[in-house]
Amino acid sequence: MRSKGISEDELFSFLETVKLEDKNHRYILSSMCTLPHPVAVRAHDLFMETNLGDPGLFPGTASLERLLISRLGTLFHNPGACGYATTGGTESNIQALRIAKTTAKIPSPNVVIPESAHFSFKKACDMIGVEMRAVPLGRDYRADTDRFMEAVDSHTCCMVGIAGTTEYGMVDPIRDLAAAAHKEGIFFHVDAAFGGMVLPFLKEAPLFDFTLPGVMSVAVDPHKMGMSTIPAGCLLLRNEKDLCSLSVDTPYLTVKQEFTLSGTRPGGSVAGAIAVLEYLGHKGMEAVVQGCMKNTRRLINGMESYGISPVVTPDVNVATFESPEFPVPPPWQVSYTRNNHLRIVCMPHVHAGIIEAFLEDIGDQYAEKAD
Ligand SMILES: *Cc1c(COP(=O)(O)O)cnc(C)c1O
Repeated sequence: MRSKGISEDELFSFLETVKLEDKNHRYILSSMCTLPHPVAVRAHDLFMETNLGDPGLFPGTASLERLLISRLGTLFHNPGACGYATTGGTESNIQALRIAKTTAKIPSPNVVIPESAHFSFKKACDMIGVEMRAVPLGRDYRADTDRFMEAVDSHTCCMVGIAGTTEYGMVDPIRDLAAAAHKEGIFFHVDAAFGGMVLPFLKEAPLFDFTLPGVMSVAVDPHKMGMSTIPAGCLLLRNEKDLCSLSVDTPYLTVKQEFTLSGTRPGGSVAGAIAVLEYLGHKGMEAVVQGCMKNTRRLINGMESYGISPVVTPDVNVATFESPEFPVPPPWQVSYTRNNHLRIVCMPHVHAGIIEAFLEDIGDQYAEKAD
């Protein structure tokens, strides 16, 4: 490092220059994260220095984490659910699989996931040393329950369903998968990292939560559609004893045991996450989410008018298209799925005006091609 520090002015002029290299959110259509809600930023700022890894020192902040878990548990139809705030879907999925493996006590265990599962499951299986079985999807880009159950055997410690897939925005047949897992006595984890903050606010959304008896855990990310600051994920468990199966002794802290993966944990983003929920309430979240769905439908209709077909009708605000014959012009930031389908996530910062501006630019490309 520098032997002598630089002035604050010089430092911040450097930081501001570097930040200009980042993409402008106006053009980011590829991300599941969004600009944090102003109340999340304010709450984060207020709790900036808090550490949930040592809750005895921050009992106020720790109560916010419990409030967040309780609000989400209630939203997912299990007010008594337990859990904690993670760094995001990846940590939630790792921990869910650890719990499933630890409680099942099966030799040479395997985990069965749909092929659409997020790559965090690969990390999780690798870390905890379980075989990962990825089952091909049905034609609707959802898990196929029959095929799924063919991959399950007496060594299966966990089955996973996705409520809002990262690439195509689809919800697996969670009801059928959860029922099958329940019947087999297998731990069933729902990855609702994205959809968990969408589906409860839609009319006629497919069931994915603790309403279904087989669902043992749910991952949900407030730092995606929950508009909190990063990092904010949550893992919820039906049974406290499952979470406690991960407990280790923590001799020098104010608590004597912890079940989290991280030690030091941010209170700021947890405050940010609960701030948004309290401020908007169910009605406010409905307005945001339904607005995103409306924009998704508008985008799909607009693209269709240029002959660009959607791949599926998504359950959440992720739109995918057959790859157009012309490139998407810069500075728009879009993404492509593993099947090379164009993918656009209609997050709250991608408001109606942005969709129209994007469609206009696509229209220009389309007209050029036609000339
Ligand atoms: C985003 C996402 C994840 C990973 O979450 P991170 O917060 O990036 O760790 C896992 N599963 C699904 C379905 C996701 O959409």
